[in-house]
Amino acid sequence: MSNTTLIDNENLLEIRNLKTYYPVKGGFFRRTIGNVKAVDDVSFEIKKGETLGLVGESGCGKSTTGRTIIRLLNATDGEILFEGKDITKLRGKTLQAIRQDIQMVFQDPYASLNPMQMVGDIVSEPIRNFKNVSMNDLKDEVMDLLTKVGLPEDAYYKYAHEFSGGQRQRIGIARALALRPKLIIADEPVSALDVSVQSQVLNLLKQLQKEFDLTFLFIAHDLSVVKHMSDRIGVMYLGNMVEIAERNSMYAEPLHPYTQALISAIPMPDPRRKKERIVLEGDVPSPLNPPTGCPFHPRCPAAMAECSQVKSALKEVKPGHRVACHLY
Ligand code: SF4
Repeated sequence: MSNTTLIDNENLLEIRNLKTYYPVKGGFFRRTIGNVKAVDDVSFEIKKGETLGLVGESGCGKSTTGRTIIRLLNATDGEILFEGKDITKLRGKTLQAIRQDIQMVFQDPYASLNPMQMVGDIVSEPIRNFKNVSMNDLKDEVMDLLTKVGLPEDAYYKYAHEFSGGQRQRIGIARALALRPKLIIADEPVSALDVSVQSQVLNLLKQLQKEFDLTFLFIAHDLSVVKHMSDRIGVMYLGNMVEIAERNSMYAEPLHPYTQALISAIPMPDPRRKKERIVLEGDVPSPLNPPTGCPFHPRCPAAMAECSQVKSALKEVKPGHRVACHLY
């Protein structure tokens, strides 16, 4: 989205030291006996008009981060600033008002839409909930949205189950756009779709970003998809942000050993160009009992003695390029 979108210098979203823990209950009295540290002290910002890609293996906390920002989950600690205003603890009407500005596109268009609901009702629902619009204007608005996401106007009268996966995701996108949000959190928006339709949906999102002046938090595990979509990229591991940088800097010179391993696994478009793949040993540790020190140390090929004791802060080592690693 980078080349054609005007990025403002102002931050639309600032995340400061965000933590989202899931309590684990146990024993006869169902007391809290531990916490799954799904997001454990994550900070970043997104500028107006920008797309920030969030990557990492499944279970790294990227989806939980997205869901905490849109307040589907409550933050355990930290701050979520939207347009400079702390929305971390908003409730009731003030929270509802923010929900007009922040919308989500979900991974699975099969699960996120009611298959037995008419598309016109699905897409118009947010408008009916938040605005006082006449039936005629509402219908015109929804027809216009359907056209903008590449669906025929008569889709209005059909049911979600009559559409393919890619078309359903377009319905989900139309619904997310209905209130003209400023920020869209797209959580793996193409990973449930056939490869043949993935690029169509990605290109649609890019086109809509320009047209609707959108800012994106784009969550995905596929680094090629994230590269295609993002201006900057953040890499998460076990609930932590381990590196964040402008896209080209991240792909040309990844600094964190985990990012280096992820990028080494991307297939080269030209098979004659060879690169060495870094294969990581072991599995991602449980976020219920994360390792001390650097969360990556049990798997890191460059680990040093201090890595198991002290966690490195995320620090800027080149302009706009931050990494959490003792090597720097
Ligand atoms: Fe590896 Fe140590 Fe850097 Fe962690 S801090 S990534 S263990 S070198």
